[in-house]
Amino acid sequence: MNESSCIFCKIAKKEIPAKIAYEDEEIIAFHDISPQAPVHVVFIPKKHVVSLAEISEEDATLYGNILLRIRDTAETLGVTENGYRVVNNTGKNGGQTVFHIHFHLLAERRMTWPPG
Ligand code: 5GP
Ligand code: ZN
Repeated sequence: MNESSCIFCKIAKKEIPAKIAYEDEEIIAFHDISPQAPVHVVFIPKKHVVSLAEISEEDATLYGNILLRIRDTAETLGVTENGYRVVNNTGKNGGQTVFHIHFHLLAERRMTWPPG
């Protein structure tokens, strides 16, 4: 999938609607359309990168920033005390379905381990 047909690029460009949870110049986070927990927010870099397998060294700060903003958004949503899970699915066996790198923030239910 290229950038022009990528659903998450369209969300980043506000071409399709999403309930935004956080946004800055390089990152946007939105509530998942098919939530797997009472709180389910998806964090993406605005620029199109396919998956974790394709991140570059130059973007180390960007991905560090995404983790920091996940932490902040968890605080804002009031889920820090009870805890949460952050998930990245990479490729076929990872269960990735949208090929624009993203990190799921899941909260407000007890997660199990191992994951399915
Ligand atoms: P993946 O399975 O690739 O790790 O996660 C993709 C996530 O994107 C899924 O949880 C799916 O529900 C969510 N998703 C797919 N299309 C849309 C959409 O158009 N809007 C929103 N808000 N979430 C979407
Ligand atoms: Zn994209």
